Amino acid sequence: MPSLSDPLGLDRASWEAVARDWGLPPYRGRQIFDALHLRRKRSWSALSEAPRSLRERLVAEAPLALPKIARRDESADGSRKYGLRLSDGSLVEAVFMPGERARAQVNEFEDARAGSAMGDRDAGPARRGKKSEPAERYTVCLSSQTGCAVDCAFCVTGRLGGGRNLTAGEILGQLYAVEDDVGRGAEGLRVVFMGMGEPFLNPEGVIGALEILFETISPRRVTVSTSGITPAFARFAELPRRPNLAVSINAADEETRARLMPITRTYPLSGVLEAMRRWPLESHRRLTAEYVLIAGVNDSPADARRLAGRLKGIAVKVNAIPLNADPIYLSGWKRPDEAAIGAFARALADAGVPVTVRRSRGPDASAACGQLKGRTQDMRQRVSARR
Ligand code: SAH
Ligand code: SF4
Repeated sequence: MPSLSDPLGLDRASWEAVARDWGLPPYRGRQIFDALHLRRKRSWSALSEAPRSLRERLVAEAPLALPKIARRDESADGSRKYGLRLSDGSLVEAVFMPGERARAQVNEFEDARAGSAMGDRDAGPARRGKKSEPAERYTVCLSSQTGCAVDCAFCVTGRLGGGRNLTAGEILGQLYAVEDDVGRGAEGLRVVFMGMGEPFLNPEGVIGALEILFETISPRRVTVSTSGITPAFARFAELPRRPNLAVSINAADEETRARLMPITRTYPLSGVLEAMRRWPLESHRRLTAEYVLIAGVNDSPADARRLAGRLKGIAVKVNAIPLNADPIYLSGWKRPDEAAIGAFARALADAGVPVTVRRSRGPDASAACGQLKGRTQDMRQRVSARR
């Protein structure tokens, strides 16, 4: 029988096995799965279709617990960063990004209008009730680990060191805790694995969560971002339903990348590009190459042209992310000015590479990329702990 220690992380087949083991018909197992993930029920007592004896057994043997909201920091643009407490006390961060602007990234360049890292273009309108009004889009950014051992020099999560893998149920639990707080469900939802941690170092938890997530939203609405753990590509590539893939490239040559991302010494850029080339893409789809722009380090038009050269032959669009600076954790690294960002993007577009420039979401709540720090208190921010 599957382990009941992570009930939110069990897929439909596992719940059927649990039902069989408890002497019940398999449809009872499916009912449990559907109640949790399709109807987003949060407690066993809400499972009105199940007999009382089953509800009681679930309460006793498969206690449900969503991560608790320990902090909630709201930005002027409506995005919210959550500090979520897991059952063992560790803190992870998730970010809610509302509305139209959550569509993805600002795009000042003609070529870049081709798409976005979040796969919005293909999602089609979600339906609401009987009307064909599309639900307002929103995006939730999830963590996959409680820290990150990959140790990128420009990333606050990385500066704070490694953590443990989240279970599939803990990953989904973040999403459900955020959904409850903002009063939304699967309609209009996009999910990005761009929070704390390296998803490819936690294939079990991430794939488990993806498989359940894909029961409620299209894989095209889900993006996993990896720093390029080369051996893990194959495991994700063989999934019958695959998310959009974003790979953090961040430099066009091995030396600069090793300086920014020491993991390059273990998994060189050349191998990461090769793994991208082999990634099974549906037709008309592209991978995303994320590229954090750091002033004077990797942001010149010559860097952009070198990058275009390295990406040749790969169906890819570049998402340039101007560095979210942090004077304490990332001292010494600076965000390029607007002119430099523009020149970099233009050079890429001129070389025929689709490019978008990512707008930071919620930097005033330190919710932007690379600013998720989880376990440490950030005393510089006003924190509202409402729960
Ligand atoms: N570990 C995964 C996913 C989480 S990081 C990965 O590295 O891809 C998500 C994205 O945020 C990555 O593309 C990363 O390069 C970017 N990022 C990290 N720190 C940043 C910072 N200080 N400013 C801007 N982007 C940053
Ligand atoms: Fe980890 Fe991604 Fe941050 Fe690098 S950028 S330290 S891989 S979370």
